Amino acid sequence: MGAPSKNPIEVRRSEFTEKALRLEGRPFSFKGYELFIPIYDSHADETHLMTGRQVAKSTTCANFSLAETAIIPFFKILYTSPTREQTRKFSTTRVGKTMAHSPEYRNLYVHPELSQNVLQKIMRNGSELHFTYAADDPDRARGISADRLLADETQDVHYDAVIPVLRECLSASKYAYITTAGTPKTMENSMEFLWRRSTQHEWGLRCPGCSKINFIIDEKSIGLKGPICKYCGHLLDVVPNYHPRFDKRNGFWVPANPDKDRQGFHIPQPVLSLHANDPKKWRMLLSKMPDGDAGYSLSRFKNEVLGVSDALGKRMITRDHLISLCDANETFASPPNKGWNKGISNIAAGIDWGGGSVIKKGTLSDMDVVSRTVLWIWGMWKGRAYKCLFYKVFPADHPIHDIAEIIHYLKEFNVEMVYGDAGEGHVANSMIQEALGPGRLYQCQYGFHKKPLTWNAHDRYLLDRTTIIDCFFLQRVLKKRVVFANKQQMTAAFDDFLAEYEEVTMDGTGRRVWRHAPAEPDDALHAAIFGWLAMMSLTTDYNDIAAFDTSLITQ
Ligand SMILES: [Zn+2]
Repeated sequence: MGAPSKNPIEVRRSEFTEKALRLEGRPFSFKGYELFIPIYDSHADETHLMTGRQVAKSTTCANFSLAETAIIPFFKILYTSPTREQTRKFSTTRVGKTMAHSPEYRNLYVHPELSQNVLQKIMRNGSELHFTYAADDPDRARGISADRLLADETQDVHYDAVIPVLRECLSASKYAYITTAGTPKTMENSMEFLWRRSTQHEWGLRCPGCSKINFIIDEKSIGLKGPICKYCGHLLDVVPNYHPRFDKRNGFWVPANPDKDRQGFHIPQPVLSLHANDPKKWRMLLSKMPDGDAGYSLSRFKNEVLGVSDALGKRMITRDHLISLCDANETFASPPNKGWNKGISNIAAGIDWGGGSVIKKGTLSDMDVVSRTVLWIWGMWKGRAYKCLFYKVFPADHPIHDIAEIIHYLKEFNVEMVYGDAGEGHVANSMIQEALGPGRLYQCQYGFHKKPLTWNAHDRYLLDRTTIIDCFFLQRVLKKRVVFANKQQMTAAFDDFLAEYEEVTMDGTGRRVWRHAPAEPDDALHAAIFGWLAMMSLTTDYNDIAAFDTSLITQ
């Protein structure tokens, strides 16, 4: 399996795990979990685990981390999950507990004088485990250096805000390994994005009746007593019978995309003996079918039991609605058309800076998402509507050139106030501030906050991403208090507006969030939103936000 290792590892992680680690006080065994052996022992630089719930993923991640840091001296793993609680639980009840109850491991690797706390564990061989958490804001992890990033519950992470920054933690490592893991959600979620760009290994089960190979990817494989053959209906035997190492009689991994560098493994509940061979567990699984007692939707059954993505995310707006706000006679240009400012009382702009300053050309891996810089200019039209006077999407690779051009447009359109994204644009914002003069540019940054808009008493406004996007869509777009130019000129912006869909996080908080598929950028929406905030600040009319009440939103 996989490409040859940069540093051949003599002891397999799976062998180390069986010899040195215990689970609930008993020596760890792969019996019934044979399909995890190739995952433990993979030498791939990038690994993606797309799993149903309750398939021993956390145990796998914990044992894998302990084995890898034991086998390679001075090896550092950075574990991250979306919430503090999830990370704390993983660190204490998975990693810490296994260390404490594995005497063979403890004697060799644990030293009483070395740090063993929730956020950091240092081993006798110089290896380290670091634990952090980030859902929307990766600042906590900046500055940590690691050899492997283990990003758990990836489905609930704001992917393009967090993962590229966490990848920077690997920049000094000669290994730079990445593992992403989680339970899939919509087809637009980052779990599916990573899966599509992986080897897509499915666990194949040979049917004892017709000898055909089955992959468990939909509800047709769910029988009354266990997983069944989708060709002849025969009950499938999930005990692979191949441990200790290979005998391809029954279960085996089959890649759909063998040429990809990232190794992806799909682990649905039914392929594990734990679920398939325990009548009580199987009845529980059946109760989660859409017509069962557990009240699961088909999408949730697919996500959590079958471990596959399903459905598209819900949108608040449609393309037809956006087009209905276009004025076919309005065009924008630079220099501005004659009479461009007729009926316009105030002019404000927003800038969403792309990651162009971070991503060097030629280093873009297919894990990265391309984020572009977008400038958006609004005019207050007849004292009530926001009219789009100009916008431009810049390609990702010329940030310095973009700044000069942006300053040119800001001056050309007499922009009075600018809000610039502080996340990627600190340097660029100060250059614009210098060009426009004092008090004309403010920085803002999205995150997860109690209030929609607060000043951090230092250098930026903190925005609650969910509420701010809700407000803009509800108060401006849905109430038709926006005027766009002709639809040809607006198409690129509308694509970005429509990339945004709703998800509910499953990280224990049940938070409603706005996300976009990593391959579908949304930068123009954020530039328009920052411009709307700049206009509110310029006109000191905050009614769009003040009137907002989250309880009015129906799920
Ligand atoms: Zn069959």
